[in-house]
Amino acid sequence: RIKSMETTLQTMSHTSNDSRFDGNEFEWSKRVEHLLQAVFKLKTFRSYQLMAINATLSGSDCVLVMPTGGGKSLCFQLPALIGDGLTVVVSPLISLMEDQMNGLKALNIPTAVISGQTTREENNEILKSMADPKGTLILVYVTPEKMAKSKRFMSQMEKCYRNKRLNRIVIDEVHCCSQWGHDFRPDYQFLGVMKTQFPDTPILGLTATATSAVILDIQKILSIEGCIVLKDSFFRSNLRYFIKKVDYKREEQIEKIAKLLKTKYAKQSGIIYCLTIKDVEEVTEKLKSLGVKAGAYHAQLEPQVRSHIHRKWSQNLCQVIVATVAFGMGINKLDLRFVIHFSMSKSLENYYQETGRAGRDGQPADCLLYYRFQDVFRTTSLVFSEKNGLSNVYSMLAYCLNDKTCRKEQMATYFGDKWKNNCDQMCDNCMNRDESSETDVTKHLLNVNQILNNASKMSERMTALKLMDAWFAKGNKKLRVDGIQSPSIGRNVCEQIIGLLLIDGYLKEEFHFTPYSTISYLTVGSRSLTRSKDMKITYFLNSLSQKRSNKTPKVKTIKKQKTSDNKESVITINDNSMITIDESDDEMND
Ligand code: ADP
Ligand code: MG
Ligand code: ZN
Repeated sequence: RIKSMETTLQTMSHTSNDSRFDGNEFEWSKRVEHLLQAVFKLKTFRSYQLMAINATLSGSDCVLVMPTGGGKSLCFQLPALIGDGLTVVVSPLISLMEDQMNGLKALNIPTAVISGQTTREENNEILKSMADPKGTLILVYVTPEKMAKSKRFMSQMEKCYRNKRLNRIVIDEVHCCSQWGHDFRPDYQFLGVMKTQFPDTPILGLTATATSAVILDIQKILSIEGCIVLKDSFFRSNLRYFIKKVDYKREEQIEKIAKLLKTKYAKQSGIIYCLTIKDVEEVTEKLKSLGVKAGAYHAQLEPQVRSHIHRKWSQNLCQVIVATVAFGMGINKLDLRFVIHFSMSKSLENYYQETGRAGRDGQPADCLLYYRFQDVFRTTSLVFSEKNGLSNVYSMLAYCLNDKTCRKEQMATYFGDKWKNNCDQMCDNCMNRDESSETDVTKHLLNVNQILNNASKMSERMTALKLMDAWFAKGNKKLRVDGIQSPSIGRNVCEQIIGLLLIDGYLKEEFHFTPYSTISYLTVGSRSLTRSKDMKITYFLNSLSQKRSNKTPKVKTIKKQKTSDNKESVITINDNSMITIDESDDEMND
């Protein structure tokens, strides 16, 4: 009966949440409820857990998408206890597997981990038990590397399958299959053979990554096209999202962060994410010199050094870990009160993952991102050669430059989720529903293109900085174009325009190698060339886009004044009693 149910389910294409699995009327429902309380000592299921458990127990292949900390593990650990037989769990990290195994052993659930680190005797024992028709093992964790390499493991799985005891194949962090995801691992592609080798065993894939493209790719790689996809909402109501636009020096930024760590976040724990290892080292050193207990974490450190700092931080002996993206999976700390991005992430996907580590205990936590125009080009020149590298950065850039739409709504839209929630003032844009206004930037595009064409005639390459200078009649005289007036709007607003034109393909980046680095240059984009003459380009520009702060950034006073050359400038005094000036012209008196 279950078999025929499975076929009907699989012939239908499910891309969203499936209410048929929402109920308590399954033959296993009583037992499921009992196990939750008696074995796992939990009161109730969280939103998608029961649906996922019912879906996988009904024998269907399923991909479950839930935010980090949402409780995906329970969705296979509990079903593993129903009926005789074995659940094989593929997981990318030994530390993750060992943590889970220790947790399960504490609950008296027979569990084993097979990795490069287990001894030959231990391995033999586990492998024997897998094939044993009377084996008592319930869960076996294995790395994809081991699975791909060990013929013996696969042969034992086959025996287990022939004994009709291979109940379920679980693939944790299943996005690692896909090159479209943020954490591709070649060995995960081997998992494509699971469906052909074990056609009657349901597959359950787990991930916090939710772009539709990645999910479709996962289904294709695992040969489970059209399987049930259960997708929890992206909404983490306890996370506050802020972007702080800065144009001051990095030193100063680190000093500001240090101040935050000593005041607002004093005695609280968090992570600072940086783009490069060099950034990590610079930020860590400077923070330490300012008396902050900080530790660096990146891929070039020895594993012992990394686990040492991770441990100190877990025990609150170190306030903050300054890290590259290498610090990610395997973070068990639930009480992070802040995740600070020293600069933008390489993709919105990464950003979502990285900030999702904050506030896993459900208490409020801050996600603060520092946006600096120059960082855009540092980031693109690092990733331009990667598949989707540039478009990923541009999605992140679009998020940074959109001062109008709720941050959470922007992310939900990006991940293909319908936004039906209320942010409740938990992001900067919802707190300042104000000063964005639609502006015609066609003239600016024409000017910028003229400057770029002029430079190209002289075989000069224009970095973003050089372009901005020429536009504002600064820097090298020959790069300026007569007749182009320097804009009457602030430099930061002009940077916003350049960013938006870039995202839309009116401008384009080109990359050139020097012996030491890669440099991004701006050129006229293809869309500029195909644009019909009378088409206007308009953007929502925030004339006060500099005024963001990580505290309640309500603007109290706005003064307008004329500068010596009759340009209008705006001075804002916000409630942090910080005075910020929205004109970076040198003539301006500070
Ligand atoms: P994920 O794999 O989705 O990141 P985990 O499975 O590691 O999340 O679970 C995160 C935390 O949530 C764990 O500490 C777990 O015990 C807890 N948890 C899971 N399900 C429930 C539940 N129904 N009620 C309370 N706590 C839960
Ligand atoms: Mg997990
Ligand atoms: Zn919002």
